[in-house]
Amino acid sequence: LLAEDGSVAASIFAEMSALAARTGAINLGQGFPDEDGPAEVLEAARQAISDGVNQYSPGRGQPVLLEAIARHQQRFYGLKLDPGSEILVTAGATEALAATILALIEPGDEVVTFEPFYDAYGGLIGLGGGIHRTVPLRAPDFQPDLDALRAAVTDRTRLIIVNDPHNPTGAIFPRETLELIVKLAHQHDALIVTDEVYEHLTFGAPHIPIATLPGAWERTVTISSGGKTFSLTGWKVGWLSAPAKIVTAILAVKQFLTYVNAAPFQPAIAVGLDLPDAYFAHIAAEMKGKRDVLATGLRAAGFAISVPQGSYFIVADATPLGFTDGADLCRRLPELAGVVAVPIAAFCSPAHRGEYAPLVRFAYCKKIEFLEQASAELAALK
Ligand code: PMP
Ligand code: GLN
Repeated sequence: LLAEDGSVAASIFAEMSALAARTGAINLGQGFPDEDGPAEVLEAARQAISDGVNQYSPGRGQPVLLEAIARHQQRFYGLKLDPGSEILVTAGATEALAATILALIEPGDEVVTFEPFYDAYGGLIGLGGGIHRTVPLRAPDFQPDLDALRAAVTDRTRLIIVNDPHNPTGAIFPRETLELIVKLAHQHDALIVTDEVYEHLTFGAPHIPIATLPGAWERTVTISSGGKTFSLTGWKVGWLSAPAKIVTAILAVKQFLTYVNAAPFQPAIAVGLDLPDAYFAHIAAEMKGKRDVLATGLRAAGFAISVPQGSYFIVADATPLGFTDGADLCRRLPELAGVVAVPIAAFCSPAHRGEYAPLVRFAYCKKIEFLEQASAELAALK
C-alpha cells in the first residue's frame, strides 16, 4: 500500500483529481458530480445541525435512517427488512465493504471479484489476508464468461463480490448471471457481497438486487450509499443489509473502524430516501442524457466505446487513435486535450493490467457544458 519512497501511495482517483487541479483540465477522472444533490436533503442536514443532532449516533445508525432504508428496499425491490437487526449504517459504501470483508474472511480464504474491479476490493481483500481470484469482463459488453465464473468459484471461496451496475465498465448483469452467482454460492457455501451504489443510475433494464433472487437473501450482504443517488459523495453515508446474524458479525468490526457515523447527515439522507419516485426517475434520465453526450463526443473523437447501461462511466479504447498505453495517455491527456481520465489498468490486478492497457475510463457525472467542451477538445487527438 506504500509508494516506493515509503509515502502513502495516492489512489488513482486522488492522483488524477490532483492532475486536473494542477493543469486546469476538465476532470472526467474521479467519479463525483459537479452539482450538489436535492435542496430538501441539503436543508435537512442544516436543520439537523440547528436542532442539535451533533453527538454520537447509535452504533447501528439513527433509527430514522434505518427505517428509511427499510422503506426504500421495500418500495423499490419488495424486500422486507427489520430496521433494528438487518441494516447497518456505515461511513459510505467503503466502510460497509471494509467491515464486511474484514468480518467475513479468514486469512487464506479466497474472494472472487470480476475484473476490472473497484480499487477498494483489492486493497480490502489484502488487508483481510484473503486471496483474490478474478473473473474477466471483456469489451465490448463486459459480461463475464459463465464457464470462467464457474471455474473461479470453488470450495475455497468464502466471498463472491458483485458490483452491479459496474464501476468502471457501466455493465449490468442480466438475471441469468445473477442466478448463476447464487447457485455457485450455494454449491460452494460462499457468501455474496453486492455493491449496488449505482442502483438508481440505470438506463434501460431496471436494477435487480441479487438479494431478491430465490435462495439469495440468507447468504447476501447488500451495500449501497447516498453518495451517487443524491449527488452527495462527500457526505459518506452508506449502509448495508443482510440477515441479522451477519449484520451482528459486521457490526463487531465496524465498532472499531468508525464506531458510529456523522450524526446530522443521517436524518438528511433519510429525507432523500423518502423522496417521491419522480426524483429517482429524474436522476437516471439526467445521467442517461449526459452519457449520450459523452458517448457521442468520444465516438466523434475516434475512440471505440462500449455504451454503458448504468453508473457514471464510459470505457473507451484508445487503440484507433494510435494509443496502446492508457496509463501513459491519461498522464498526457491534460496537455494533449485538456481532459483528465483514468486508465482501466488501475482497476486490474498486476497480472492482468496488460490485457486492459489501451482502455481508459471517462466519468460523465458532470455538467453538460463540460462534457461538450471535453468532447470538442478530445477531437484534437485525431
Ligand atoms: N463502490 C463503488 C463501485 C464505487 O464506485 C464507489 C465510489 N464512489 C464506492 C463503492 C464508494 O462509495 P462511498 O463513497 O459511499 O464510500
Ligand atoms: N467511486 C469514484 C470513482 O470511481 C471515486 C472513488 C474515490 O475517489 N475513491 O471514481
